[in-house]
Amino acid sequence: MDYGLIGKIEKAKRYAEERDRIEFLEFTVTFKGENNDHTVTYRAGQWHCNCDFFQTRGRCSHTMAMETILEGMVEIARAG
Ligand SMILES: [Zn+2]
Repeated sequence: MDYGLIGKIEKAKRYAEERDRIEFLEFTVTFKGENNDHTVTYRAGQWHCNCDFFQTRGRCSHTMAMETILEGMVEIARAG
């Protein structure tokens, strides 16, 4: 038995439930929309999406979905 590893597994389970320990700094995802794929990026608290809606509103269904998925680990975009 690797007790060291068992301890780490237990710690990982606890950490995985403590989302506020994690803060995303940057990432890029391909978001499969209903019609097209979109590229959503997040860097230093700033969201970006290449869909048309985002270009005029600074927020869109793709970035808002990501905010929900990553709640507590990313900053929420400000509309307008
Ligand atoms: Zn979008």
